[in-house]
Amino acid sequence: MDWDEIARNPRTVENYNLLKEVGILDYVDQQKDEIKDNNNLLDEAYELFQKETVDEIVEYILWRLADKFIPSSVYIILNEGIMVDKIKTIAYQSMQSVEKNLDISSLQPFEEFFKTYTGTTSYLILKSEMDEETLKPLENCYPEIIVPIQGFSGLYGIMLFGEKILGEEYSPKEITYLNRLMRFTSISIQNSIHYDHSVKDSKTGLYNHNFFMSRLNEEIARSKRNHSVFSVMVMDIDKFKHFNDTYGHLAGDEVILNIADTLNMTLREGDILSRFGGEEFTVLLPDTTPEQSWKAAERLRTAVEAMDTYYGEHHLKVTISIGLASIHPYSLGTAEELMTRADDALYRSKENGRNRSTHYRSGLLNQALDREE
Ligand code: GH3
Ligand code: MG
Ligand code: MG
Repeated sequence: MDWDEIARNPRTVENYNLLKEVGILDYVDQQKDEIKDNNNLLDEAYELFQKETVDEIVEYILWRLADKFIPSSVYIILNEGIMVDKIKTIAYQSMQSVEKNLDISSLQPFEEFFKTYTGTTSYLILKSEMDEETLKPLENCYPEIIVPIQGFSGLYGIMLFGEKILGEEYSPKEITYLNRLMRFTSISIQNSIHYDHSVKDSKTGLYNHNFFMSRLNEEIARSKRNHSVFSVMVMDIDKFKHFNDTYGHLAGDEVILNIADTLNMTLREGDILSRFGGEEFTVLLPDTTPEQSWKAAERLRTAVEAMDTYYGEHHLKVTISIGLASIHPYSLGTAEELMTRADDALYRSKENGRNRSTHYRSGLLNQALDREE
């Protein structure tokens, strides 16, 4: 039986005033609102769980909150590292994303507090329980409400909400909504951080070997369907063993980080750059012909050649060698075969003096020419 049926019942009509007087009608309205809110919340949670990156998640919840109220500022302080601290701040002012760096290097000091206060909490409570020095970096955010993002590994982050843009207090209803939405947001952010860790190399933030190979297999399948051409690149730092022996392993690590940044900045969006192993990198270049891939390789090679790394009093220079292979609809092989060809080409680059790029096809051509001579 639904409410409309009850409302049409002659006995309800007859007793309308009585029902109204004792508050039944208001109560029913209230229940209807609550059911609507809960249904919306479930839809929002479903949407939230579809988001992949933390930025997408934050963007989405702000947009949802804006239906109810607009916070003057929102700060999200996240620890993206799982074993080590890696703090990232996302900041919004008047719903616009802004660059802010708060001077916080760890969430550790907040762990204890959020063991007791597990949900949406007034900033005043935090202030009354924690020491002034620890909270100093947060003061510039003028927070009113603070929400923990918690999960398996403890505290993943905290979110700070400034006063509402219209200056009224947050109502209990708004706090309840925020609290519920934030529970789902916590899970979604936690998933996103763990997903990131499963596909990325923790040192450089580049994709890892497994992710690269699975993308490569997808690309081969796409090539079969669409007859598309693509290329892969394998890169290896030249004489890196000697480099480590001379300057130390830590200097070597610094160079690896610098190379990761340089390659990232030089590649196109859509190219998949991964750290394949210690000092080896690979790139998947979708929709890229052998000629285009060779140009891209030369761009990367010269960018690394021009790169400067400063470590202590040392000014460090390194070069890389590159091997390339391409796939086209008439010579589809497996991912492993393609990588072996790129590796062979890399071996030729090393043999021919290093700091150079070789394409597998041109490698074969060279061999053919050698034999003709
Ligand atoms: P080649 O030009 O033939 O590549 O010479 P190479 O000395 O670079 O030889 P190879 O590529 O076989 O050597 C890899 C060296 O890279 C060995 C290892 O000490 C170093 N290496 C591997 N991973 C890391 C890392 O994460 N950090 C540092 N600092 N060194 C690494
Ligand atoms: Mg190597
Ligand atoms: Mg090497």
